[in-house]
Amino acid sequence: MSLDLTVIIPIYNEEINISILYDRLKKVVSDISVSHEFIFINDGSWDNSMKLIRELVEMDSAVRFINFSRNFGHQIAVTAGIDASKGNAVVIIDADLQDPPEVITEMYHKMQEGFQVVYARRKSRAGESFFKKFTAKLFYRILAKITSIKIPVDTGDFRIMDRKIVDVLKDMPEQQKYLRGQIAWVGFKQTYVLYDRDERFAGETGYTYKKMIRLALDGITSFSNLPLKFATMTGFFVSGITFLLSLYALYARFISKDYVPGWTSLILAVLFIGGVQLISIGIIGEYMSRMSANVRKRPLYVVDDTNV
Ligand code: UDP
Ligand code: MG
Repeated sequence: MSLDLTVIIPIYNEEINISILYDRLKKVVSDISVSHEFIFINDGSWDNSMKLIRELVEMDSAVRFINFSRNFGHQIAVTAGIDASKGNAVVIIDADLQDPPEVITEMYHKMQEGFQVVYARRKSRAGESFFKKFTAKLFYRILAKITSIKIPVDTGDFRIMDRKIVDVLKDMPEQQKYLRGQIAWVGFKQTYVLYDRDERFAGETGYTYKKMIRLALDGITSFSNLPLKFATMTGFFVSGITFLLSLYALYARFISKDYVPGWTSLILAVLFIGGVQLISIGIIGEYMSRMSANVRKRPLYVVDDTNV
């Protein structure tokens, strides 16, 4: 039996949102009349979330759940949902109703037009601090500049994707998940719909600044080697300056004779060693960036279909 749609819902202390979310999702799937499953991943909540999920399971055979032993983080929760999903199309949505479930209808229809990924791009964001919006905007733009793949800006994980994409994601074993980057990396035909991001319906954000910074660093290190190259570039830059200063030190010693004894050899040694060290670190960086790409063990390419 194949299912039309899987909806993945990561849950971290969302007791006040679960039943409203469930009702709105149920309405959406009946509107577009698809066979479906809802996978709730309880990511170590310490409120009543799990109890409420179990009640839904009793009531509705389309509801499935994965209960984590502790809080592993949002990206990992979504990954568990992806691994368990059976639908031909898979939706990722936040539980706090910031992603309006009704947008799924539009995303689903867009997908029927022949796209493999339809992500929801935020036109506006209600009820979030200036600081969060500002840092998010800045981060997405920097990331877009320093990566070679096109990671869409102003987009969270709210999206629908085809089984083809889901199967590739399951083959990407990296420990640091930055799903929106991975999905962009996979390719196929991707598009977006615009939406207004609502305010969190109730409860508090589970994304502390610490979690946000970790996600940002995972995104950068998984998709860009620019920081490593930075070491090499500084190495060469400093060496260049060192060279000029060396010439000056030699000039002071032998031509203008305006020098303190011992200073020339000392400064030359310091400058030279500094430059060499930075270049060496840079070169190690070059090797490490290639090594880390290998440790990631991503497939080399993705075949759409073939007749071999
Ligand atoms: N979430 C999770 N694990 C966490 C933090 C958050 O599963 O460690 C879930 C949370 O329940 C919600 C989604 O991830 O469904 C987005 O989190 P949140 O709304 O707290 O983040 P924000 O919208 O403030 O960035
Ligand atoms: Mg939220």
